[in-house]
Amino acid sequence: MTIDLTTITIAGARDALRTKKYSSVELTRAVLLRAKEKNATLNVYAEFFDDAVVAAENADRMIAEGKDTDLTGIPVAIKDNMLMEGKISASGSKILMNHRGVYDGTAVKKLKDAGAVILGRTNMDEFAMGSSSETCAYGPVKNPHDVTRVPGGSSGGSAAAVASVGALGALGSDTGGSIRQPAALCGVVGLKPTYGAVSRYGLMALASSLDQIGPFAKTVEDTELLFRAITGFDLLDSTSVPESKRGKPTHKEKLTIGVPESFIAMDGIDPDVRENFRSIVARLKDEGHHILPVELPTLPSALAVYYVLMPAEASANLARYDGIRYGLSKEAQRLIDVYTMSRGEGFGKEVRRRILLGTYVLSAGYYDAYYNKAVAVRRLITEELLRAFKGVDVIATPTSPSPAFALGEKTADPLKMYLEDIFTVPGNIAGVPGISVPSGTVLRGNTALPVGVQFMAAPFGEDTLFAVGRAVERIREFSR
Ligand code: GLN
Repeated sequence: MTIDLTTITIAGARDALRTKKYSSVELTRAVLLRAKEKNATLNVYAEFFDDAVVAAENADRMIAEGKDTDLTGIPVAIKDNMLMEGKISASGSKILMNHRGVYDGTAVKKLKDAGAVILGRTNMDEFAMGSSSETCAYGPVKNPHDVTRVPGGSSGGSAAAVASVGALGALGSDTGGSIRQPAALCGVVGLKPTYGAVSRYGLMALASSLDQIGPFAKTVEDTELLFRAITGFDLLDSTSVPESKRGKPTHKEKLTIGVPESFIAMDGIDPDVRENFRSIVARLKDEGHHILPVELPTLPSALAVYYVLMPAEASANLARYDGIRYGLSKEAQRLIDVYTMSRGEGFGKEVRRRILLGTYVLSAGYYDAYYNKAVAVRRLITEELLRAFKGVDVIATPTSPSPAFALGEKTADPLKMYLEDIFTVPGNIAGVPGISVPSGTVLRGNTALPVGVQFMAAPFGEDTLFAVGRAVERIREFSR
């Protein structure tokens, strides 16, 4: 039978699998075929796994025996920085190209236990540093809406996989926006959960106080299904928050939506993006939600804070790639040469830049001036945001300041690239959840490029994010 992939969703496929309209083997083969066709131009996948069909057979068995979950038999993709037993995980880096995992990370294991079918690993910016998926050792990923443009990053492969239906859902990681920004640029939904909501066991650490694993999908409902499957307390991650401390979900018909007006009015935000955002907010108001202007004066400093803390932590985390313990190892007479040659050859330019930056801000002479100051401002930003959530249910901003940009457009100017993260980094700095929902398109020439609206909520307010995300989806359905 032929399966219509154009409108397929996880929830729809789940129902079709349960009612035996098609099997997981048929679905997996159909999605794989399409993914492989698309991969030639999009470069979404670093590798397709040859055991995907076996996993689909197992899923069909689970369904036949009535042991299925919402994700049983659903083909998904995993970002290249999550460990999978027996599989290579390279984090998009030359230094780890032969690095095989010896265990499944918790989020991956939870998906496997739920019966999801993992099709392969997706391309990303090297070690998740970037906003364009251009620094990947396997070559740049292309945006499915316009192959001359970037898909966003760093989880660009996962976002583009879902947008091109090379998977029905995917996992990414978000340290400063790497799920939400590519989701916006590819026209799909992406969720960065609360810090501590999803175990990072088996995720290659970038900046440990900021990293979170989260899902991509076409709809909010699908995103929620994936989130439910991977969230939960995990003893193997010391930052995992026990269930008893997560609070109860609240259900409100009408939400109070905070809009940080002066943040959004800032220079450097594309006027079309701003207009798209304002029209979505106006429609939410028409639907009866309360719109409240909020002042968050410290929020614009989040970007500077991020680009001190993130490289500092990354420089420490990446010290483990020394040519001895993992991956690429260059032979030399002296041990120090093994280190420098392996790292010099294995790491790309952006990774080296951040290691230098990070070591600099952590050095004895500059620690107080940069690192300690950033830690202090981080506290202010967090307090400011948490205070705001006493008066509003969510805070809305555009997800990224511009739509997908051309390949190569920002690679020569790292500061321009870093500006991509202006709206997303506050969520990581404060540890609060954030979702990006497609909010329409803006025109560049004749091409309609997707953009997204971001909502942040108080810690463990994911339910509120799903509620407001659904409201945006309803508005967009009516306006079609
Ligand atoms: N774009 C940001 C950066 O370059 C975010 C990366 C991420 O979230 N992994 O660091």
